[in-house]
Amino acid sequence: MDSVGVAAAAAPDAGPGPAWQSKCPWGAPSTSISCSLADVMSEQLAKELQLEEENAAFPEVVAAAEGPFITGENIDTSSDLMLAQMLQMEFDREYDAQLRREEKKINGDSKVSISFENYRKVHPYDSDSSEDEVDWQDTRHDPYRADKPTTTPKRGFIGKGKDITTKHDEVVCGRKNTARMENFAPEFQVGDGIGMDLKLSNQVFNALKQHAYSEERRSARLHEKKEHSTAEKAVDPRTRLLLYKMVNSGMLETITGCISTGKESVVFHAYGGKSATEDKVIPPECAIKVFKTTLNEFKNRDKYIKDDYRFKDRFSKLNPRKIIRMWAEKEMHNLTRMQNAGIPCPQVVILKKHVLVMSFIGQDQVPAPKLKDVTLSNEDMKKAYYQILNMMQQLYRECNLVHADLSEYNMLWHDGKVWLIDVSQSVEPTHPHGLEFLFRDCRNVSQFFQKGGVAEALNERELFNAVSGLNITADNEVDFQAEIEALEKMNEDHVQNHGKKLSTFSSDGDPPIYDE
Ligand code: ADP
Ligand code: MN
Repeated sequence: MDSVGVAAAAAPDAGPGPAWQSKCPWGAPSTSISCSLADVMSEQLAKELQLEEENAAFPEVVAAAEGPFITGENIDTSSDLMLAQMLQMEFDREYDAQLRREEKKINGDSKVSISFENYRKVHPYDSDSSEDEVDWQDTRHDPYRADKPTTTPKRGFIGKGKDITTKHDEVVCGRKNTARMENFAPEFQVGDGIGMDLKLSNQVFNALKQHAYSEERRSARLHEKKEHSTAEKAVDPRTRLLLYKMVNSGMLETITGCISTGKESVVFHAYGGKSATEDKVIPPECAIKVFKTTLNEFKNRDKYIKDDYRFKDRFSKLNPRKIIRMWAEKEMHNLTRMQNAGIPCPQVVILKKHVLVMSFIGQDQVPAPKLKDVTLSNEDMKKAYYQILNMMQQLYRECNLVHADLSEYNMLWHDGKVWLIDVSQSVEPTHPHGLEFLFRDCRNVSQFFQKGGVAEALNERELFNAVSGLNITADNEVDFQAEIEALEKMNEDHVQNHGKKLSTFSSDGDPPIYDE
């Protein structure tokens, strides 16, 4: 390698450059020649010196926002797409850093400066802006559109007699082509020919233009993919920035890795840091639940939130991303209610958009096992059953909630007791389907403990009555469910007629009791 090689290693764009770049201008042979160890050493030394010089000149250029998260060893690497996107993100960041360096080089100490802002690949994150409504592509001006198109006279020529110059004149055309290269984006390396009297042939110019366009399209495609990539693992660049910010602010110490990837959410483990405010204590270990911002999986869950009157007014007005945030918000509110009632559940730390941070149930990065995965002694099994019966009653009566996804999958065994998690879909009992959800919960619980050998376990209908305080007497499932639906309908009719929501169902045929 020669000195050009060293310079190329530090060049900003790893993309294909014009052909002249790879050729040595001094005509040295392009084939590699064997060289002595000393040569190799001096080349390395040159590289090192160059790096040192660069670092000294631009010390702030650290790969932006690099946190423990992205370098974490135990990050889920099972998705090729995810990996590719993360690499692209890294690449884009390096590119931006280089862009910033170029900007600095050009501007120097000059009072008037130019900005490459519009050419950045990664756009700065601003938590308070309503960036959701603004697509970066809409806000950029098109870098490839010539500001002032050079006009050719309509008649296609200028001058007279033997001095006539047509638009096809090689020299004029070549110069014009060279000038038009300025309109390519800065990442597109056209060399410094613009300052010289360089004449580009139409053929070369068109080839370059074509390449510039396809590069832009490629870049736009990648960005578009990134915007929607949450579908894969819920950590799209937006989410990643949210997480980086939590680490950067010191609120979280480190994000160690992924605990669970579900259809609707991804859960990470993190070590807590220090809170900015004195009164708040961050738990030593946290769970970060990231709600996936893809709508596909949430579509069939609309009914949980659409009909929840607490969210009803807002639902219709929101865009999809905001609806996802409402899931996170719902989980936060429900957890807070449970916490206040003393039900063992994660404690809310903070909610940021679709990311909910809560206390971690488990220890040393190991999450507490789900009830379905743990083998309990008969005694513990019985203890767990009575605890759950109690919690379901508290949830219904004190929190005015029905879990709506209660099963051995959403109960953790920790510290000798059962902890309830996953309450984003929980609703109030007067939700149009609230009692049906409760019945389903009862069926899951009852079946689990009956199978688990707890002789005292009530059957699903008995459990339903014990939790709700209702007294449905039907002795078979079909009739029981019919009665439940009749109750729900009665409640809905009351809402229709009175415009008010009932807070409790009456158990003995009395007129329903109003909350307000
Ligand atoms: P999903 O909707 O994906 O089921 P969950 O809230 O149930 O979301 O979380 C998925 C899994 O992540 C849980 O089964 C549990 O193993 C783990 N998990 C969630 N929250 C916590 C927490 N606070 N502490 C420990 N583990 C948790
Ligand atoms: Mn779950």
